[in-house]
Amino acid sequence: MIKQVIWTSMIDYPNNVASVIFFEGCNFNCEFCYNKELSKLNTIDFELEILPKLLERKDMISHVILSGGECTCSAEFTNIVQKLYLNGFTIGIHTNGSNPNVVESNIEEISYLGIDIKTSFEKYNDICNTKVNVEDIIKTIQIAMKNNKQYQIRTTLFPQYVKLEDCTKIARFLKDMGIENYTIQQYYPVGSATSKEQYTEEELKNIQQECNKIIHTNLKVK
Ligand code: SF4
Repeated sequence: MIKQVIWTSMIDYPNNVASVIFFEGCNFNCEFCYNKELSKLNTIDFELEILPKLLERKDMISHVILSGGECTCSAEFTNIVQKLYLNGFTIGIHTNGSNPNVVESNIEEISYLGIDIKTSFEKYNDICNTKVNVEDIIKTIQIAMKNNKQYQIRTTLFPQYVKLEDCTKIARFLKDMGIENYTIQQYYPVGSATSKEQYTEEELKNIQQECNKIIHTNLKVK
């Protein structure tokens, strides 16, 4: 179910202004997740409330990001991708990478993928509070690469489970896959997140610097 739309975002689709559609629900259960806040909001109807407004503004904003929650878990996902595509929008998704089959079956219509790597693979079940098949995440990255899509692999620096050594492990893993860029981003606590701890600017820069020795690493702090 769709719970929120940001009509104009400068930060979600690299180098483009985009509208962002947030789907409720996810197959992971990360403690710091924004999804818990989304569940408190009313459902928004795509056909009646979203598509008409996107079309009205299409001359100004033709890029749309499907985000979440985990958009690929939504029963509406494929239908919405198709509708947006047929109406001439450029589509991006934000995904935890756990549904490679859904991504692959829609890949022709998707132009950009923001794929999360939450932490080093051995810590995944701890941070996501569920059993994660990391092979699925790797497959999703491979689908983006193989189909020559624009993609960004990013890690949110949640201090409890994402340490410097986790980021350098991820950086090495990406480099070995033939990927040239990695993005790390500051963690911002939302509503129900129990941990309010954040890395300082200096700590973030240090992590960036160490990852940069392995692979070109961007730091996003909003
Ligand atoms: S993968 Fe993303 S949407 Fe899913 S629980 Fe974790 S932070 Fe939330």
